[in-house]
Amino acid sequence: MNSKSRNPLAPTTEQIADGVWRHAGDIRRGMNVYFVAEEEGPGVFAFDTGTRAMAGGIRKAAAELGGLRRVVLGHSHVDHRGSAAKLGVPVYCHPDEVADAEGDGGVHYQPLGEVPVTYSRWLYRVVYPIWDAGPVKISGTLSEGDRIAGFEVVHFPGHAPGQIGLWRESDRLCLSSDTIYLTDSMRPLGHHPGIYPPHPVFDQDAEQTLESVRKLAALEPSKIAPGHLEPLRGERAELRARLEAAADERTGW
Ligand SMILES: [Zn+2]
Repeated sequence: MNSKSRNPLAPTTEQIADGVWRHAGDIRRGMNVYFVAEEEGPGVFAFDTGTRAMAGGIRKAAAELGGLRRVVLGHSHVDHRGSAAKLGVPVYCHPDEVADAEGDGGVHYQPLGEVPVTYSRWLYRVVYPIWDAGPVKISGTLSEGDRIAGFEVVHFPGHAPGQIGLWRESDRLCLSSDTIYLTDSMRPLGHHPGIYPPHPVFDQDAEQTLESVRKLAALEPSKIAPGHLEPLRGERAELRARLEAAADERTGW
């Protein structure tokens, strides 16, 4: 696989679990796409698609894994569907996410003008249109309990109405899209490690966002592969407690 490049802007692809690769790209390699080996190979599907600028890198990296067969959107926000319209493969999502995936990517419920940190308020309004290649046609849907390539679909609504994660009990791995952030999204240019429920400005329903963090906690994952930054690994009970505390304390709100 293409390993860590010396070019700070080049994407990286690394295997993080059996049949799962993390492809990290865009600014500070902060956007994650996960490649999951198809059960009836060859090739992989992409869970989330990062930003528009990542389309070429995704195609190239997926080709080394047998080719990109389809896309599954964790949710339709512009930094997750961003390159989907440019990848030329069928796109799937949760039924409650179809309208926004085929529409504005959920921008209609995100009051970016209310971001409380001044530089971020401007930053997000500038980068959103740059990140997004636009609406995608949805070919099919995936709902709670459906199986795909050895994973079970889990509905994590709130941040987006049809946000989903992929859960594999055998190694307690959850691909969690934006169920949690691992940095403070209000101060994205700094380094603020921790577990943060997505800020209400980005959520369709902020209370449901907290419930979904508790739902993720109750799965007792030992590895969480989020939509942004490095996977979070830990002992089951310890991770559960940290996730529950983040929901209870509304960290970062
Ligand atoms: Zn995101």
